[in-house]
Amino acid sequence: MINLKFLSYIAALLVVFAATPAVADHFRIRDCPDSAQADLNWAVNFINRHLDSILATQSILNTRYQASIKDDWPDTTIDCAKPSRNSCEDGANAFHAGANIVHLCWDNIMNRSGWNRCSVVRTILHEKAHEARAPIADTHEWTDLEGRNDPVYRFGESVFVYCDRVAGLAAAGTFDSLGLEPLGATAELPLGDYCEEDNQCQSNECRRGKCVCNDNGDCPAGYRCKTGGLNECIKIEGEIGEVCNRNSDCETAQCDRDICVCDTDQHCRDFFPGSDWRCRRGGQNACVRTNLPDGERCHVDGDCASGQCRGVGDGRTCRPTGLPNGARCEKNGDCASGQCRGIGSGRTCR
Ligand SMILES: [Zn+2]
Repeated sequence: MINLKFLSYIAALLVVFAATPAVADHFRIRDCPDSAQADLNWAVNFINRHLDSILATQSILNTRYQASIKDDWPDTTIDCAKPSRNSCEDGANAFHAGANIVHLCWDNIMNRSGWNRCSVVRTILHEKAHEARAPIADTHEWTDLEGRNDPVYRFGESVFVYCDRVAGLAAAGTFDSLGLEPLGATAELPLGDYCEEDNQCQSNECRRGKCVCNDNGDCPAGYRCKTGGLNECIKIEGEIGEVCNRNSDCETAQCDRDICVCDTDQHCRDFFPGSDWRCRRGGQNACVRTNLPDGERCHVDGDCASGQCRGVGDGRTCRPTGLPNGARCEKNGDCASGQCRGIGSGRTCR
Protein backbone atom coordinates (compact mmCIF):
# COMPACT_ATOMS: atom_id res chain seq x y z
CA MET A 1 0.00 0.00 0.00
CA ILE A 2 2.82 2.33 0.88
CA ASN A 3 4.52 1.57 -2.38
CA LEU A 4 1.38 2.22 -4.36
CA LYS A 5 0.79 5.46 -2.55
CA PHE A 6 4.36 6.54 -3.08
CA LEU A 7 4.20 5.67 -6.77
CA SER A 8 0.99 7.60 -7.28
CA TYR A 9 2.59 10.54 -5.49
CA ILE A 10 5.49 10.43 -7.92
CA ALA A 11 3.02 10.06 -10.78
CA ALA A 12 1.15 13.12 -9.54
CA LEU A 13 4.38 15.11 -9.41
CA LEU A 14 5.22 14.11 -12.96
CA VAL A 15 1.78 15.17 -14.13
CA VAL A 16 2.19 18.54 -12.47
CA PHE A 17 5.59 19.08 -14.05
CA ALA A 18 4.39 18.03 -17.46
CA ALA A 19 1.25 20.14 -17.39
CA THR A 20 2.60 23.34 -15.90
CA PRO A 21 3.71 25.99 -18.37
CA ALA A 22 6.67 28.27 -17.63
CA VAL A 23 4.37 30.88 -16.14
CA ALA A 24 1.85 28.94 -14.13
CA ASP A 25 -1.62 30.44 -14.30
CA HIS A 26 -4.35 28.44 -12.69
CA PHE A 27 -7.40 28.61 -10.52
CA ARG A 28 -6.75 29.58 -6.93
CA ILE A 29 -8.49 30.76 -3.82
CA ARG A 30 -6.30 33.29 -2.05
CA ASP A 31 -6.28 34.75 1.45
CA CYS A 32 -9.76 33.59 2.31
CA PRO A 33 -10.58 32.62 5.90
CA ASP A 34 -10.69 28.94 6.80
CA SER A 35 -14.35 29.33 7.65
CA ALA A 36 -14.99 30.30 4.01
CA GLN A 37 -13.19 27.38 2.41
CA ALA A 38 -16.03 24.87 2.38
CA ASP A 39 -18.52 27.37 0.93
CA LEU A 40 -16.08 28.72 -1.63
CA ASN A 41 -14.91 25.30 -2.70
CA TRP A 42 -18.47 24.20 -3.18
CA ALA A 43 -19.30 27.32 -5.20
CA VAL A 44 -16.23 26.89 -7.40
CA ASN A 45 -17.01 23.22 -7.91
CA PHE A 46 -20.59 24.03 -8.81
CA ILE A 47 -19.47 26.58 -11.38
CA ASN A 48 -16.95 24.09 -12.80
CA ARG A 49 -19.72 21.57 -13.24
CA HIS A 50 -22.48 23.83 -14.46
CA LEU A 51 -20.94 26.85 -16.17
CA ASP A 52 -21.80 25.67 -19.68
CA SER A 53 -25.44 25.06 -18.74
CA ILE A 54 -25.66 28.27 -16.74
CA LEU A 55 -24.52 30.27 -19.76
CA ALA A 56 -26.56 28.30 -22.26
CA THR A 57 -29.82 28.65 -20.36
CA GLN A 58 -29.67 32.41 -19.74
CA SER A 59 -30.62 35.01 -22.34
CA ILE A 60 -29.06 38.14 -20.87
CA LEU A 61 -25.42 38.00 -21.94
CA ASN A 62 -24.72 37.31 -25.60
CA THR A 63 -22.23 34.79 -26.93
CA ARG A 64 -19.32 37.26 -26.84
CA TYR A 65 -19.64 37.76 -23.08
CA GLN A 66 -20.35 34.09 -22.58
CA ALA A 67 -17.15 33.14 -24.39
CA SER A 68 -15.13 35.60 -22.32
CA ILE A 69 -16.48 34.24 -19.03
CA LYS A 70 -15.85 30.66 -20.17
CA ASP A 71 -12.29 31.42 -21.29
CA ASP A 72 -11.33 33.29 -18.13
CA TRP A 73 -12.97 31.06 -15.57
CA PRO A 74 -10.30 28.31 -15.36
CA ASP A 75 -7.57 30.84 -14.45
CA THR A 76 -9.60 32.87 -12.01
CA THR A 77 -8.26 33.93 -8.64
CA ILE A 78 -10.79 34.24 -5.84
CA ASP A 79 -9.28 36.69 -3.37
CA CYS A 80 -10.55 37.64 0.07
CA ALA A 81 -7.66 39.94 0.97
CA LYS A 82 -8.54 43.55 1.65
CA PRO A 83 -6.50 46.08 -0.29
CA SER A 84 -5.92 49.41 1.46
CA ARG A 85 -8.67 51.06 -0.57
CA ASN A 86 -11.53 48.77 -1.28
CA SER A 87 -15.25 48.60 -1.79
CA CYS A 88 -15.74 46.21 1.12
CA GLU A 89 -15.80 49.16 3.52
CA ASP A 90 -18.71 50.58 1.54
CA GLY A 91 -20.66 47.41 2.09
CA ALA A 92 -20.03 45.64 -1.22
CA ASN A 93 -20.23 41.83 -1.42
CA ALA A 94 -17.48 41.70 -3.99
CA PHE A 95 -15.72 43.85 -6.54
CA HIS A 96 -13.67 43.59 -9.70
CA ALA A 97 -10.57 45.72 -10.00
CA GLY A 98 -9.01 44.44 -13.19
CA ALA A 99 -7.03 41.27 -13.87
CA ASN A 100 -8.62 37.86 -13.55
CA ILE A 101 -9.45 38.29 -9.88
CA VAL A 102 -12.75 38.17 -8.05
CA HIS A 103 -12.35 40.15 -4.82
CA LEU A 104 -14.77 38.89 -2.21
CA CYS A 105 -15.76 40.85 0.88
CA TRP A 106 -16.32 37.69 2.90
CA ASP A 107 -17.24 39.42 6.15
CA ASN A 108 -20.02 41.29 4.37
CA ILE A 109 -21.19 38.15 2.59
CA MET A 110 -21.41 36.29 5.91
CA ASN A 111 -23.52 39.09 7.33
CA ARG A 112 -26.22 38.88 4.65
CA SER A 113 -29.25 37.23 6.09
CA GLY A 114 -30.62 34.23 4.23
CA TRP A 115 -27.62 33.77 1.97
CA ASN A 116 -26.63 30.29 0.99
CA ARG A 117 -23.97 28.75 -1.21
CA CYS A 118 -25.96 29.55 -4.36
CA SER A 119 -25.74 33.21 -3.33
CA VAL A 120 -21.95 32.88 -3.44
CA VAL A 121 -22.16 31.36 -6.92
CA ARG A 122 -24.26 34.38 -7.96
CA THR A 123 -21.74 36.83 -6.49
CA ILE A 124 -18.74 35.19 -8.15
CA LEU A 125 -20.36 35.05 -11.58
CA HIS A 126 -21.66 38.60 -11.22
CA GLU A 127 -18.00 39.66 -10.93
CA LYS A 128 -17.03 37.46 -13.86
CA ALA A 129 -19.64 39.33 -15.92
CA HIS A 130 -17.90 42.57 -14.95
CA GLU A 131 -14.61 41.18 -16.08
CA ALA A 132 -16.18 40.20 -19.41
CA ARG A 133 -17.18 43.89 -19.64
CA ALA A 134 -20.86 43.20 -19.78
CA PRO A 135 -22.86 46.45 -19.89
CA ILE A 136 -23.87 48.08 -16.61
CA ALA A 137 -26.15 50.95 -15.65
CA ASP A 138 -24.57 54.20 -14.44
CA THR A 139 -26.11 53.53 -11.08
CA HIS A 140 -24.81 49.93 -10.86
CA GLU A 141 -22.90 50.68 -7.66
CA TRP A 142 -25.92 52.36 -6.07
CA THR A 143 -28.11 49.38 -6.81
CA ASP A 144 -31.16 51.57 -7.32
CA LEU A 145 -34.00 50.25 -9.46
CA GLU A 146 -32.12 50.92 -12.68
CA GLY A 147 -28.86 49.56 -11.32
CA ARG A 148 -30.42 46.35 -10.13
CA ASN A 149 -31.96 45.76 -13.55
CA ASP A 150 -28.82 46.11 -15.64
CA PRO A 151 -27.44 43.05 -17.50
CA VAL A 152 -24.82 42.19 -14.87
CA TYR A 153 -27.35 42.12 -12.03
CA ARG A 154 -29.92 40.29 -14.11
CA PHE A 155 -27.30 37.73 -15.18
CA GLY A 156 -26.37 37.22 -11.53
CA GLU A 157 -30.00 36.65 -10.64
CA SER A 158 -30.40 34.13 -13.44
CA VAL A 159 -27.34 32.31 -12.06
CA PHE A 160 -28.96 32.20 -8.64
CA VAL A 161 -32.25 30.94 -10.03
CA TYR A 162 -30.39 28.20 -11.92
CA CYS A 163 -28.39 27.15 -8.86
CA ASP A 164 -31.40 27.27 -6.56
CA ARG A 165 -33.44 25.14 -8.95
CA VAL A 166 -30.69 22.54 -9.44
CA ALA A 167 -30.04 22.36 -5.70
CA GLY A 168 -33.74 22.09 -4.93
CA LEU A 169 -34.25 19.23 -7.40
CA ALA A 170 -31.15 17.31 -6.33
CA ALA A 171 -31.49 14.36 -3.99
CA ALA A 172 -30.65 15.17 -0.38
CA GLY A 173 -27.00 14.72 0.48
CA THR A 174 -25.77 14.91 -3.10
CA PHE A 175 -23.26 17.54 -4.15
CA ASP A 176 -25.75 19.78 -5.94
CA SER A 177 -28.19 19.74 -3.03
CA LEU A 178 -25.59 21.49 -0.86
CA GLY A 179 -26.29 24.76 -2.69
CA LEU A 180 -29.05 25.40 -0.19
CA GLU A 181 -26.65 25.10 2.79
CA PRO A 182 -26.36 28.25 4.85
CA LEU A 183 -22.90 29.81 4.80
CA GLY A 184 -20.23 28.81 7.26
CA ALA A 185 -21.94 25.51 8.07
CA THR A 186 -18.92 23.27 7.78
CA ALA A 187 -15.26 24.10 8.12
CA GLU A 188 -13.88 21.06 6.32
CA LEU A 189 -14.64 19.72 2.90
CA PRO A 190 -16.55 16.55 2.24
CA LEU A 191 -15.42 14.08 -0.39
CA GLY A 192 -15.75 15.36 -3.93
CA ASP A 193 -15.28 19.01 -3.08
CA TYR A 194 -12.79 21.20 -4.84
CA CYS A 195 -9.39 21.38 -3.14
CA GLU A 196 -5.85 22.46 -3.78
CA GLU A 197 -4.11 20.95 -0.80
CA ASP A 198 -4.57 17.81 1.28
CA ASN A 199 -5.28 19.78 4.43
CA GLN A 200 -8.38 21.34 2.87
CA CYS A 201 -10.05 17.96 2.91
CA GLN A 202 -11.61 16.12 5.81
CA SER A 203 -9.81 13.03 4.52
CA ASN A 204 -6.53 14.94 4.21
CA GLU A 205 -6.28 13.66 0.65
CA CYS A 206 -6.61 15.98 -2.36
CA ARG A 207 -6.13 14.53 -5.82
CA ARG A 208 -6.67 16.27 -9.14
CA GLY A 209 -8.47 19.13 -7.41
CA LYS A 210 -10.91 16.89 -5.58
CA CYS A 211 -11.12 15.68 -1.99
CA VAL A 212 -10.89 11.89 -2.08
CA CYS A 213 -10.78 9.15 0.53
CA ASN A 214 -7.55 8.12 2.18
CA ASP A 215 -8.78 5.03 3.98
CA ASN A 216 -12.02 3.19 4.59
CA GLY A 217 -12.93 5.41 7.51
CA ASP A 218 -13.33 8.36 5.13
CA CYS A 219 -16.11 6.58 3.26
CA PRO A 220 -19.73 6.40 4.37
CA ALA A 221 -20.99 3.20 5.99
CA GLY A 222 -21.21 0.38 3.49
CA TYR A 223 -18.47 1.83 1.32
CA ARG A 224 -14.73 1.24 1.23
CA CYS A 225 -11.87 3.31 -0.10
CA LYS A 226 -10.41 1.89 -3.28
CA THR A 227 -6.89 3.23 -2.97
CA GLY A 228 -4.09 3.36 -5.48
CA GLY A 229 -5.78 5.29 -8.27
CA LEU A 230 -8.36 8.02 -7.86
CA ASN A 231 -9.11 6.84 -4.32
CA GLU A 232 -12.84 6.42 -4.74
CA CYS A 233 -15.37 5.20 -2.21
CA ILE A 234 -17.00 2.16 -3.71
CA LYS A 235 -20.03 0.36 -2.40
CA ILE A 236 -19.41 -2.84 -0.52
CA GLU A 237 -21.99 -5.30 -1.79
CA GLY A 238 -20.84 -7.94 0.62
CA GLU A 239 -22.03 -10.84 -1.51
CA ILE A 240 -20.01 -13.98 -2.05
CA GLY A 241 -17.20 -13.23 -4.50
CA GLU A 242 -17.14 -9.46 -3.80
CA VAL A 243 -14.03 -7.61 -2.75
CA CYS A 244 -13.81 -6.94 1.00
CA ASN A 245 -11.47 -5.55 3.64
CA ARG A 246 -12.76 -7.19 6.75
CA ASN A 247 -15.20 -9.89 7.82
CA SER A 248 -17.89 -7.36 8.63
CA ASP A 249 -17.89 -6.23 4.98
CA CYS A 250 -19.37 -9.58 4.00
CA GLU A 251 -22.91 -10.88 4.40
CA THR A 252 -21.29 -14.18 5.34
CA ALA A 253 -18.93 -12.50 7.82
CA GLN A 254 -16.05 -14.26 6.06
CA CYS A 255 -13.49 -12.18 4.21
CA ASP A 256 -10.67 -14.39 2.99
CA ARG A 257 -7.83 -12.88 0.96
CA ASP A 258 -9.97 -9.82 0.18
CA ILE A 259 -12.89 -11.87 -1.15
CA CYS A 260 -16.20 -12.59 0.59
CA VAL A 261 -16.53 -16.35 0.83
CA CYS A 262 -19.08 -18.81 2.19
CA ASP A 263 -18.91 -20.25 5.68
CA THR A 264 -21.93 -22.54 5.69
CA ASP A 265 -23.80 -24.52 3.03
CA GLN A 266 -26.77 -22.24 3.66
CA HIS A 267 -24.68 -19.24 2.51
CA CYS A 268 -24.30 -20.93 -0.86
CA ARG A 269 -27.96 -21.89 -1.08
CA ASP A 270 -28.97 -18.30 -0.32
CA PHE A 271 -26.62 -17.02 -2.98
CA PHE A 272 -27.53 -19.64 -5.60
CA PRO A 273 -31.20 -20.27 -4.93
CA GLY A 274 -33.01 -23.17 -6.49
CA SER A 275 -30.16 -25.67 -6.55
CA ASP A 276 -28.19 -27.73 -4.14
CA TRP A 277 -24.96 -26.05 -3.24
CA ARG A 278 -22.47 -26.66 -0.53
CA CYS A 279 -19.62 -24.66 0.90
CA ARG A 280 -16.39 -26.40 0.10
CA ARG A 281 -14.04 -25.66 2.95
CA GLY A 282 -10.31 -25.60 2.89
CA GLY A 283 -8.01 -23.24 1.10
CA GLN A 284 -10.32 -20.40 0.15
CA ASN A 285 -13.87 -21.54 0.89
CA ALA A 286 -16.00 -21.75 -2.23
CA CYS A 287 -19.56 -22.62 -3.17
CA VAL A 288 -19.83 -25.76 -5.25
CA ARG A 289 -22.88 -27.51 -6.59
CA THR A 290 -23.88 -30.85 -5.21
CA ASN A 291 -26.55 -33.51 -5.77
CA LEU A 292 -26.32 -32.97 -9.50
CA PRO A 293 -28.72 -35.15 -11.47
CA ASP A 294 -27.47 -37.72 -13.92
CA GLY A 295 -26.14 -36.18 -17.12
CA GLU A 296 -24.97 -32.87 -15.52
CA ARG A 297 -21.38 -31.76 -15.82
CA CYS A 298 -19.35 -32.58 -12.70
CA HIS A 299 -15.82 -32.41 -11.33
CA VAL A 300 -15.70 -34.97 -8.55
CA ASP A 301 -17.90 -37.89 -7.49
CA GLY A 302 -19.23 -35.79 -4.59
CA ASP A 303 -20.85 -33.36 -7.04
CA CYS A 304 -23.33 -36.01 -8.20
CA ALA A 305 -26.44 -37.29 -6.49
CA SER A 306 -25.34 -40.68 -7.70
CA GLY A 307 -21.86 -40.21 -6.30
CA GLN A 308 -20.52 -41.14 -9.76
CA CYS A 309 -18.73 -38.53 -11.86
CA ARG A 310 -17.47 -40.22 -14.99
CA GLY A 311 -15.72 -39.25 -18.20
CA VAL A 312 -12.64 -37.24 -19.12
CA GLY A 313 -11.72 -33.60 -18.47
CA ASP A 314 -14.49 -31.10 -19.21
CA GLY A 315 -16.68 -33.88 -20.56
CA ARG A 316 -17.19 -35.49 -17.13
CA THR A 317 -20.87 -35.99 -16.25
CA CYS A 318 -22.88 -37.57 -13.46
CA ARG A 319 -23.81 -41.15 -14.20
CA PRO A 320 -26.40 -43.37 -12.59
CA THR A 321 -25.42 -46.17 -10.20
CA GLY A 322 -26.90 -49.58 -9.67
CA LEU A 323 -27.21 -50.27 -13.38
CA PRO A 324 -28.93 -53.51 -14.30
CA ASN A 325 -27.08 -56.24 -16.14
CA GLY A 326 -26.57 -55.40 -19.81
CA ALA A 327 -26.38 -51.63 -19.30
CA ARG A 328 -23.33 -49.71 -20.51
CA CYS A 329 -20.79 -49.05 -17.72
CA GLU A 330 -17.31 -47.72 -17.05
CA LYS A 331 -16.45 -49.04 -13.65
CA ASN A 332 -17.54 -51.90 -11.45
CA GLY A 333 -19.25 -49.46 -9.07
CA ASP A 334 -21.67 -48.42 -11.84
CA CYS A 335 -23.36 -51.78 -11.78
CA ALA A 336 -25.83 -53.29 -9.32
CA SER A 337 -23.84 -56.46 -9.71
CA GLY A 338 -20.56 -54.69 -9.10
CA GLN A 339 -19.25 -56.22 -12.30
CA CYS A 340 -18.47 -54.03 -15.34
CA ARG A 341 -16.95 -56.16 -18.06
CA GLY A 342 -15.80 -55.81 -21.65
CA ILE A 343 -13.52 -53.50 -23.64
CA GLY A 344 -13.65 -49.74 -24.21
CA SER A 345 -17.09 -48.30 -24.97
CA GLY A 346 -18.50 -51.79 -25.20
CA ARG A 347 -18.29 -52.42 -21.44
CA THR A 348 -21.53 -53.61 -19.84
CA CYS A 349 -22.79 -54.76 -16.47
CA ARG A 350 -22.71 -58.50 -16.11
ZN1 LIG B 1 -21.32 44.62 -9.81
